[in-house]
Amino acid sequence: MSTPKHLFGTNGIRGLVNKELTPEMAIRIGNAIGTFFKRGELIVGYDARTSGPMLTRAVMAGLNSTGCNVLLAGMAPTPALQYAVKKHKADGGVIVTASHNPPEYNGIKVIWNDGIEISHEQETEIERIYYGEKASLADWKAIGTTRELPGIIDEYVDGVKKNVNAKAIIRKHYHILIDGANSVGSLTGPRLARELGCKVTTINANIDGTFPGRPPEPRPENLGDLATTVKAVGADLGVAYDGDADRSIFVDEKGNIIMGDQTFALVAKYFLMDNPGEKIVTPLSSSTMIQDIADEYNGQVVWTKIGSVTVAQRMKELKAKLGGEENGGIFYGPHQSVRDGAMSTALILNLMARTGSKLSALVGELPEYFIEKTKIDCKEEQKQKVLEKLTEQNRGLKTNTLDGIKIWFKDKGSILIRPSGTEPIYRLYAEAKTNKRTKQLIKEYSSQLQAIIKKLK
Ligand code: MG
Repeated sequence: MSTPKHLFGTNGIRGLVNKELTPEMAIRIGNAIGTFFKRGELIVGYDARTSGPMLTRAVMAGLNSTGCNVLLAGMAPTPALQYAVKKHKADGGVIVTASHNPPEYNGIKVIWNDGIEISHEQETEIERIYYGEKASLADWKAIGTTRELPGIIDEYVDGVKKNVNAKAIIRKHYHILIDGANSVGSLTGPRLARELGCKVTTINANIDGTFPGRPPEPRPENLGDLATTVKAVGADLGVAYDGDADRSIFVDEKGNIIMGDQTFALVAKYFLMDNPGEKIVTPLSSSTMIQDIADEYNGQVVWTKIGSVTVAQRMKELKAKLGGEENGGIFYGPHQSVRDGAMSTALILNLMARTGSKLSALVGELPEYFIEKTKIDCKEEQKQKVLEKLTEQNRGLKTNTLDGIKIWFKDKGSILIRPSGTEPIYRLYAEAKTNKRTKQLIKEYSSQLQAIIKKLK
C-alpha cells in the first residue's frame, strides 16, 4: 500500500531532529516554500530549541536559492512573527518551531501575508512542489538576500497593549507569575506584564532549548510548580505558555489551574457583552459552556473541525473576531486572528481590572461541566466504516459530523467520538452537568463503539 506523502500535520511540519527532520530536508522545504511564494520577501524566526539556528539557516538557504529575500527576525514567539508579517507587509513568514513537542523535535510553520498560517490547500501545494521536485532555483544573479529585522518583539508587545485598557490594568498593580517553559514566551510575557504595571515573578524564564524546567506542553500535570508558586508568593495570577507561546494556561490566585475552555468562555462572555451578535469560532472539542455563554450573551457559535489552522481560516472567511480552543489557544481578531499567548494574558488582566474581581470569582460564575475521556482500539482501515455505522445508529439525535461525530443531549451532556489521525484508536470525550452522567456517557458509547468494531471483524 502506498502511503500518501505529507509533510504537514495538523499544525505545520513536525519531526524528530536529524531523524525525521534534517537540515538537508529543511533546505528542500525552503526551496518548496520559496517556489510556492514565487520569490518575494519572507520574515523568518525560530523558537528556543537547540536545533533552531541550524534548521533556520538551512530553511533560509533554501529560500534564498529560489530567489526569496529573507528578513531574519531571530528568536520569537510564533504570534510575534505572525504580527511582524502583517505589520511589515511581508509576502509571508516561516517560523521554525515544534510548539508544545519535546525538545528533541522541531518543525516549520508557514505564514501567509495576513499573518495567518497557510491553509491546508496551500500546504498541499507546497507538498506537491517538495515531492514532485518542482522547486525552481534562481539564476545566480537573482539569488535572494538576507538581512536582519530587529525589534519585532517590541512592536508585538506594543500591538498587544493597544487592544486592552492598559491604564486600568496599570492602576491595579497586579502580581503575576509567569512560567515561560524556558522558551520564547519568556521574551514577551514578562515584558508585557511589566509594561502593564504588574509586579512580575518568573519560573522557567531562562532561555534553554533543552527545556529543563518542564515539558513545553502546558497540561495540568506539567504546571504543578506554577500552581504552588502562585500560592507561595501570593500572586494574583499565574500563566504558563507552550513552547512557541501561542497558547496560554492560567492559574487563579488560589493556585487552581483554569481549563482552556473556561478561559475562552470568560473572554467570550465579556467580548459578547461589548459586541452582541458576533460569531464565536471554536472546534467541536470545545465545551458546551461556550454555547451556554453565547446563548446568554447573544452570540453565535460556529463549530469547526479540530485544529488551529481551521479555526483561523474559518474566522478569516466569516470575518469573525473571536476564536478559541480548549487547549488554551485564544484568537483575538482585533489584534490578529491567530492563537496568541501574550494577547490572552493581556485579555485576562483586562477582565480582572474591568470587573475588579479575582480570577477565581470570574471563573466561578461560569457554567459548570464535568469531563471524562477514554480511547478504544480501532484498526486504521475500519475507522471510516465505524464512523458511518455510529452516525447511522445515532440518527435522530442532535449531531455534528464535521470531525468524527459529536452528539449533544437534551440534558446538556455531550460526547465527541473521533478517530485519531496518528494512532489506531478512537478517542471519546464526554461532558455533562454531573460526574455520574459523564461516566455513563463514556460507558454507553464505549460499548456502542466496541459492538460496531466487533461486528465488522
Ligand atoms: Mg504552540
